[in-house]
Amino acid sequence: MIEVISLGAGVQSTVMALMAAHGELPMPDCAIFADTQFEPEEVYAHLDWLEAQLPFPVHRVTAGNLKQDVLDGVNTTGQSFAAIPFHIEGGGFARRQCTKEYKIEPIRKKLRELIGLKFRERAPKEISIRQWIGISTDEAVRMKPSRDKWVQNIWPLIDAEMSRNDCLKWFERRYPLRPLAKSACIACPFHNDVLWRDMKINDPESFAEAVQFDNDIRKNKSGQLRKQAFVHRSCKPLEEVDFRNLEDMGQLNFFNEECEGMCGV
Ligand code: SF4
Repeated sequence: MIEVISLGAGVQSTVMALMAAHGELPMPDCAIFADTQFEPEEVYAHLDWLEAQLPFPVHRVTAGNLKQDVLDGVNTTGQSFAAIPFHIEGGGFARRQCTKEYKIEPIRKKLRELIGLKFRERAPKEISIRQWIGISTDEAVRMKPSRDKWVQNIWPLIDAEMSRNDCLKWFERRYPLRPLAKSACIACPFHNDVLWRDMKINDPESFAEAVQFDNDIRKNKSGQLRKQAFVHRSCKPLEEVDFRNLEDMGQLNFFNEECEGMCGV
C-alpha cells in the first residue's frame, strides 16, 4: 500500500503534511502537488519552503499552463476549451473543467505511475493507494470516496477532529509569524472580494496579471465563449471593480476550501 498526500499547498494540506513530519500522523510515502502554473508567486515560495521541511518527497506534476491554454482556447488534450468557471454576462457560470483537467487528472496519472502502471494498462481491482485529502471537520460535507477502486481516500484531519481553525493554531504554534499561503489560481472566479482586495493591496503583480487575463478573455480570440465572460462575480471588468467597502467581509472565503472541493468533481 502506498500512502500519498494530495498536497494543495493551502492551510489544511500543509498542516497535514507537517503533522506527519512532526510524527503526529503516520509517515506517508510522498506528496503530490498539481501545478496549474497559474498560482501566485507566494504559493510557489511556500511550496519550496514546505518541501524543505518534509522528510518525504513532493512530486510536482502539471497538465500544462492553465492560463495560456484558456487564452489559446485549448484543453489539456488540445481539443476543446479548457473552461475556468467564469461568470457569464446574463447570469451563471461557464463550464468547470479546470480542476479535473489540471489538478485531479495529473495527480491520478502520477498515482498510476507510482504503482507501476503503463499507459492504458488496467488498474488493479484491490486498493493499492491510500490518498490523504486535507479536509477539516468544518468541511466534512466535501468528503467523497475516490472514483477509482484502487485508490482509497482518507481524511486524517477529520480523524484527528481538527477544524480549519485548529490547523491554523497548530501551524502558529510550530511556525510563529510564518504566513500560510492561499493556494488557488491567480484569477479564479471563486475569489471573493475580500481576497481580491487583499491581492490588489498586497500582491499587485498578481492582481495586474488577473486584470490582464480578465481583459484578454473578452477578446475571446478562440471564439469558444459566445457570451462575455468575467473573473469577477459582478460581471464587470476586474480593473473597474471598487473593493473599498467592507460589507462583504462576512462572505464565504473560498480559501476555507481546497480547489478540489469547490469544483465538485
Ligand atoms: S483554483 Fe479556480 S481556476 Fe484554478 S483550477 Fe481551481 S477552480 Fe479552476
